[in-house]
Amino acid sequence: MDVLDSVVIGAGQAGLSSSYHLQRLGISHVVLDSDPAPGGAWQHRWDSLTMRDVHGVAALPDSGSPGLSERRANVVVPAYFSDYERKHALPVLRPVRVDRVTDDAGVLVVHAGDRAWTTHTLVNATGTWSHPFVPRYPGMETFAGEQLHTAGYRGAERFRGRRVVVVGGGASAVQFLGELAPVTETIWVTRREPVWRTDDFTPDAGRRAVALVEERVRRGLPPASVVSVTGLALREQERAAELLGAYARRPMFSAVEPGGVRWADGSFEPADVILWATGFRPAIGHLAPLHLRSPQGGVQLDGTTAVADRRVQLVGYGPSASTIGANRAGRTAARGVARWLDGESLSTT
Ligand code: FAD
Repeated sequence: MDVLDSVVIGAGQAGLSSSYHLQRLGISHVVLDSDPAPGGAWQHRWDSLTMRDVHGVAALPDSGSPGLSERRANVVVPAYFSDYERKHALPVLRPVRVDRVTDDAGVLVVHAGDRAWTTHTLVNATGTWSHPFVPRYPGMETFAGEQLHTAGYRGAERFRGRRVVVVGGGASAVQFLGELAPVTETIWVTRREPVWRTDDFTPDAGRRAVALVEERVRRGLPPASVVSVTGLALREQERAAELLGAYARRPMFSAVEPGGVRWADGSFEPADVILWATGFRPAIGHLAPLHLRSPQGGVQLDGTTAVADRRVQLVGYGPSASTIGANRAGRTAARGVARWLDGESLSTT
């Protein structure tokens, strides 16, 4: 089997940016993507999320931006990615779900069911969407109502008249409460006191927030969400929920019971739905055979290069888990791949 110069896993913003830059550098590669269609995680986001609701989707390299509008993000961004793949003739294969990446005598083998690709280098761009995180609480399995995670949210209307507990202190929880409170009763619980931004969000504050996550990843710690360090803000469309008291947060409950949730002090709230807006984790289980994790629990990176194996680049991970970060990481990763192919391998072996 021919050994490719590189394989990119994932065709979201990070994977497409990487593929674009690899192509510019003349590096032979394929992009393997598990989704049935272009769009990365955006194709799975809820229908009520419009391009005006999102923080902004950065333009892919050498392209205009998808812009702000009242149109659905889960339609606009997939169409934008699809045009981009076509315009630049990016070598995307789908649907291909990578199960594991192994090392065979110095060559990386990317396995997907009964198919396999061999490659000198790897750019992992698998995002977080396929790895939702739900914490464990006693009694969760006894709950008689419905439990769902952000990844399963499809809009507020189907919760009308059902009492919803929203769990989580991030931007998604704030958005859900904004949509749910006007149509039903809500209770908001978070582990920590939410951090509200008091000043206007400036590019400088954004850079400082990203630098904090960057520092964690440089030390090999599990990356924090970029949003968790930028703080929360209410937007115009959340003012109605604010007036209804939806953002009066309660501390985390200690147990789930069939009819609701209970706090350590004995108080109880009946609930029909628990919406776990508790975030995502990097979807990197398929890289386990490469032993990239540091003793601190995260993958230690030097830029986008895995310190434990410099053939591997991680993009859309930690500080680059935003559309603008993913764009830049794609360029850095392609240069990292080029450096390895140009002989870094010889100087480090
Ligand atoms: P994704 O878009 O998730 O793409 C990953 C791709 O990898 C997918 O196509 C998937 O099919 C594929 N894949 C996964 N596992 C495998 C596998 N094993 N084998 C093969 N393929 C695989 N960022 C912003 O900049 N602005 C925003 O407004 C914004 N809003 C957000 C709203 C929500 C609700 C969330 C959850 C995130 C938001 N983000 C936003 C973050 C942003 O969406 C991502 O960080 C960014 O799009 C980078 O995407 P990505 O390419 O890393 O991942």
